[in-house]
Amino acid sequence: MSRPQSVTVLGATGSIGVSTLDVLARHPERYRVHALTAHRSRETLLAQCRVHAPALAVLEREEDAAWLRERLGEAGLVTEVRCGPEALVEVSEASEVDVVMAAIVGAAGLLPTLAAVRAGKRVLLANKEALVMSGALFMDAVDRHGATLLPIDSEHNAIYQCLPVEHRGGLARHGVTQLLLTASGGPFRGWSAEALAGVTPEQACAHPNWSMGRKISVDSATLMNKGLELIEACWLFDARPSQIQVVVHPQSVIHSMAAYADGSVLAQLGNPDMRTPIAYGLSWPERLDAGVEALDLFQVARLDFEPADEAAFPCLRLAREAMEDGGTAPAVLNAANEVAVEAFLDGRLGFAGIGELVSRVREACPPEPATELVGILDADARARREAEVRLGRR
Ligand code: NAD
Ligand code: MG
Repeated sequence: MSRPQSVTVLGATGSIGVSTLDVLARHPERYRVHALTAHRSRETLLAQCRVHAPALAVLEREEDAAWLRERLGEAGLVTEVRCGPEALVEVSEASEVDVVMAAIVGAAGLLPTLAAVRAGKRVLLANKEALVMSGALFMDAVDRHGATLLPIDSEHNAIYQCLPVEHRGGLARHGVTQLLLTASGGPFRGWSAEALAGVTPEQACAHPNWSMGRKISVDSATLMNKGLELIEACWLFDARPSQIQVVVHPQSVIHSMAAYADGSVLAQLGNPDMRTPIAYGLSWPERLDAGVEALDLFQVARLDFEPADEAAFPCLRLAREAMEDGGTAPAVLNAANEVAVEAFLDGRLGFAGIGELVSRVREACPPEPATELVGILDADARARREAEVRLGRR
C-alpha cells in the first residue's frame, strides 16, 4: 500500500477545519496530519494536537505559541510550535506535504493558500476570499505550478461534480450553457428591507441549514456569500457572470447544478454537511466514507426554488458588478465587506449598513489591473482604510 498522504489544515480550529479533522480521523491509513494552524484559539489547537499529533502547530502570536509549547511539553508530545504569517506559508509549501486544506477565513488566507498552489500541492479551497481577491493570478498559478485545485465550497464542489473532468477553457466548449448556483436564502429570506434594518448579529449568525463561522454566517444573511461564490465560480469554471444564475432553494439539498446544451441539467444532492465536499476533495477521483447520513428524500419531501430578492439584498448585485468591472474590484469589494462584517458583529454598524459601506468603498477605490500580488494587497489595504474612515465618520 502507498504511504499515507500528509495533510496541512490551515484554520484547523474553525468550522471547516473541525469537519476536515473528523473526516481525516476516519481514515488513518490514508492520511496523517502534518500541520494544524489557528489564529488565537490555543485551547482548541492543544486538544487537536493531542488527538492528531501533527509535526507542527502554528498560532498567530508568540505568547500563544509559548503557552502551547509548554502544554505540549508537559503532555510529552513532540509537536513543534511556530507563530506568525511566515510559518503559515512554511507549513503550506513544505516538501513533505501532499494536501493543504485552505480553511482560514478572509484575506488572511491568501498568502498561505497561494504558497500551497505555487508548491503544486493538492489544494482544497474553502477560503473563497483568497480566490475572489486574486482570481486571475491564482488560476494562472494553479496552471503554471501544476497544482490540483478542488473546490470545497459546497456549491462549487457540486458544480465540479456535475462538469466533465476537463472543464477549463470556457463553458461552451463543453456543451454547458449555464451554472445554477443554489442559495438557501439565509435566515432572512422573504424579509423586507425595513424589517432587515433592525437585524442583530445573533439573528444573522443563526443559519437555518448550515453551522458555520460567524463571518460566513453574516455573509449568508446579506447574500454577499452568494456574491463571493458567483465570483469564485467565474474563476473556477471559466464562466462569465451572465452564465451563472442564482437560484434560491431553501432546503439546501441540491448544492448546485450545471445546464447543458441538450437540455440536461445535472445536480448534486446531499444532506447539508460539509464533510461531503471535504471527503470528495481529499479522495478525488475516489470516494470515501465521510460519516454523513444518507439523504432521505421522503423526509425532504419537496424541493422549492425562487429568485433572489436583489432589492432587499443588494450585496449580490454589488459582487456581480465587481466581477464585471474586473481588476482589483473584487479585492476591494471583499476587503470592504470584511471590515463591514466585523463592524456589524461588534455593534458598530447596522445590517443594512454592510451593503452601503461596501458600495461607498467601491466608489472611492476605482478598479486597477490585478496582475501583480502587490497591487492586489495594496487595493485590499486601501479599501480597508477607506472603510474604516467611513465607519469613523458615522
Ligand atoms: P471559522 O471562523 O469557523 O474558522 C476560521 C479559521 O481560520 C479558524 O481556525 C481561525 O483560527 C482561523 N483564522 C481566522 N483568522 C485568522 C488569521 N487572521 N490568521 C490565521 N488564521 C486565522 O470559519 P469557517 O466557517 O470554518 O470558514 C473558513 C473558510 O471556509 C471561509 O473562507 C469560509 O467562507 C469558507 N467556507 C466555510 C463553509 C462552512 O460551512 N463553514 C462553507 C463554505 C466555505
Ligand atoms: Mg457555499
